[in-house]
Amino acid sequence: MLTKFANILPNRRMACRLSVSALMAICALPALAQSDALPKAPEGFEECKLRLQEEAIAAGVSAKTAQDVMTGVKHIDRVIELDRKQPEFTTTFADYLNRRVNDDRVNKGRELIKEHSALLERVTEATGVPAPYLVAFWGLETNFGSYFGKMSVPDSLTTLACDARRSTFFTKQLIAALRIIDEGSIPADQMEGSWAGAMGHVQFMPTVFLKHAVDADGDGKRDLWHSLPDAMMSAGRFLQSMNWDADYRWGREVLLPENFNYSLADGRRLELSKWRDLGITDAFGKRLGQEDIKAALIVPAGHRGPAFLAYHNFKVIMGWNRSEFYAIAVGHLADRIAGAGTLQNPPPEDTSALSRNTILELQAALGERGYDAGKPDGILGPATRSAIRKYQQDKGLIADGFPGQELLDGLEVTHS
Ligand code: CA
Repeated sequence: MLTKFANILPNRRMACRLSVSALMAICALPALAQSDALPKAPEGFEECKLRLQEEAIAAGVSAKTAQDVMTGVKHIDRVIELDRKQPEFTTTFADYLNRRVNDDRVNKGRELIKEHSALLERVTEATGVPAPYLVAFWGLETNFGSYFGKMSVPDSLTTLACDARRSTFFTKQLIAALRIIDEGSIPADQMEGSWAGAMGHVQFMPTVFLKHAVDADGDGKRDLWHSLPDAMMSAGRFLQSMNWDADYRWGREVLLPENFNYSLADGRRLELSKWRDLGITDAFGKRLGQEDIKAALIVPAGHRGPAFLAYHNFKVIMGWNRSEFYAIAVGHLADRIAGAGTLQNPPPEDTSALSRNTILELQAALGERGYDAGKPDGILGPATRSAIRKYQQDKGLIADGFPGQELLDGLEVTHS
């Protein structure tokens, strides 16, 4: 906005010299804008802390808690570093999955599901979420409670709330954190979490904690750090609030027939019977069920990798963390903890991770050829995948929307 305004200012000045009364209103504009735009002294961290303290009190946090906590809060430079850090390379699906779902984690999950069977049964009964999923979230979030993060949550959230990039979001999180301290769930100096403020066994952000955490062990406190009953019941309640479907699984690995039209794996949701008619079977080649449910086909590593049909609960898992890889990892880990084996069609390990520069080049190359990949941003989002799919269709390639080597070669994009 400001740049735009600066560009038209000289013309306005010229018009004002003509002194036509009809232009008065326009002539007044630059002056107003200039006074509005007077540079304010940048707010220092101490000032910001005071302002947030007042905002917290206005939002209902007790003056004592707001003052006690905010007075002691410190800026953490590392948090800003981590917030600014952009991954230089994409993560391949093979890498992602193998790091998160491996024999050690599966075995540990199988032990824990037995050890805590009474608690988990209680949670399932109350929320409809089966035990293997609860344990899978627990495994992915904190390796079953072995690592909660060591950052002071009030410090890290204040640091982020006082930083311009995502100030509104983190101000909300900070105020929620202060309310959690205020209600006596945890003392401020014990409120530890990830650098971005995710807390406890299942890494709830403060707003999620405030809305969905419950006291399941009856000690009067919602304690997601020290009470597994509280943490598991809270996870179940959160999933239930996002309409977890107790009747169906998350989805399943499937096999696609020869010459399958991969362009159908574009997020569309079709009846299970429709997928069945297209020749898709379960991972063992057996016919899919007759259930009247909808599913989306997902090929996270392209046509050389595994295929999945994702049911309603897949979307629920993505409400917890908006990543398809994450949702598949939760679903697959839950299946394995419940006794299933590894994927029938494991993701290819020879796929290279792409750098942001390579993706930028790929986006430019698609654009030059008339395939709109959106604004080049170095990220493989839906627009880029859709442009890839269209290009592949036109070139007679397998239209899986995946940037494999063949595609990069065809577009003369080299790894950089
Ligand atoms: Ca409790």
